Amino acid sequence: MSPIAPFEIRVESPCFLAPRVSLWSFRHLNSRKLASNRSMPLRTYSMTTPTADVANEGGINAEGNQLYSYSAPSFIKQSNVIDNAPKHRLKLAMRPTPIQPFHLPMIKRGDIKLYIKRDDMTGITESGNKIRKLEFLFADAIASNHDCIITAGGVQSNHARAVSVLCRRLGLEPHVFLRSTLSKIETDPNDSESVNQLIGFDGNVLIHRLCKTYIHIVPRMSFLSGLLPRMQALKQQLHEENGKKAYIIGIGGSDEVGVWGYIEAYAEIAKQCQLGQEISHIVLSTGSGGTAAGLAIGNFLNGSPVKIVAFTVSDTPEYFYDHIDEMLTSLGISEVKATDTITILENKGKGYGINSKDDLRSVSQICSASGILLDPTYTLKGVRGLIAEANKSTEHSVFPQDARILFIHTGGLFGLFDRRVEPYVDTSLASLWTDDQVK
Ligand SMILES: *Cc1c(COP(=O)(O)O)cnc(C)c1O
Repeated sequence: MSPIAPFEIRVESPCFLAPRVSLWSFRHLNSRKLASNRSMPLRTYSMTTPTADVANEGGINAEGNQLYSYSAPSFIKQSNVIDNAPKHRLKLAMRPTPIQPFHLPMIKRGDIKLYIKRDDMTGITESGNKIRKLEFLFADAIASNHDCIITAGGVQSNHARAVSVLCRRLGLEPHVFLRSTLSKIETDPNDSESVNQLIGFDGNVLIHRLCKTYIHIVPRMSFLSGLLPRMQALKQQLHEENGKKAYIIGIGGSDEVGVWGYIEAYAEIAKQCQLGQEISHIVLSTGSGGTAAGLAIGNFLNGSPVKIVAFTVSDTPEYFYDHIDEMLTSLGISEVKATDTITILENKGKGYGINSKDDLRSVSQICSASGILLDPTYTLKGVRGLIAEANKSTEHSVFPQDARILFIHTGGLFGLFDRRVEPYVDTSLASLWTDDQVK
């Protein structure tokens, strides 16, 4: 590994007096101290040329904290797409993630073969699909000398949690906007206890708190008209008050940089198995669209040997087709439309993060049948959609006779610990063991 160019970024030393959880309002912009002004230690990044993935080979693994120059997978021949690829990448995820058989007895059709790619194993606290996109987004941030990351998501956002952990791993300062489900928050911003109760301490939120992430709580609002202006205002405030340079990552990291995480994941799958023969369909859940876009675009650029099927957990299929069309345009691909590259089926139910009782009951049914834990917000809705499609007769199903399906487990484990499924576990299996039972 030969260093190409050194990078230095400034890192905040922890300041325990700064308010880390706050209600965000524009009125408070100038009166709140967000971060420490004290002198900061330096962390140095040197850029190295790419090597083989050695993350799993043992020894001291320093590669995860190095910046690499990046070139697109070799099956991509279009020069304008190659030109639009990011210039830098970090190697943060555990790769390749395994592909295993997935036993779902709820699927009645015997001709279907089902496998699961364990992207829930890309790490522990950084686990799930977001780290693959963040390898490119954090590399972009570090290469352009940023020292803070600002991002946003729902209260239990897995993306925001991965950002918190990776910031602390790489020496950047994390700021997350967490969007509550309330359309209006009446809580007094100075009543710290009530502010903290708005998001609680469960699941992903606990990880933010352990990372000492700056959490800015906002009501339910749209990204473009609501969150983005607030993120930009915070970026400016961090600059003016603290001399910091913040990098903004949109919801889910699903932009023209992040999308390369799943173009790369597609290349990884193509190396692991014979696409078109061993696998005929790749199936996943789609939330902000970047994972689906990366897989669909990768598959198209590779000559479309498989069909990609995504189940929505938030918006309508039209929304995601539009998102993928935008990604295609931004990469310079004009010869196809999103609808030619992917099939998007609606399975959001009553909405993002909302589950039926049947949904919540099936978490334990699926786990006890397969050993696979699914989170109610994302992966569960994908698998439930898959089961419903697979149980249709072949002429009405997206899965033809003898389909060989690869489901992408996109992670979300910590979202399972927000207590939603507690009322749906079988409590009859726990009993006190007494010594009278010994014969
Ligand atoms: C974010 C997320 C998804 C959806 O991925 P997108 O790229 O945002 O569509 C799926 N599963 C889990 C567990 C996630 O956290």
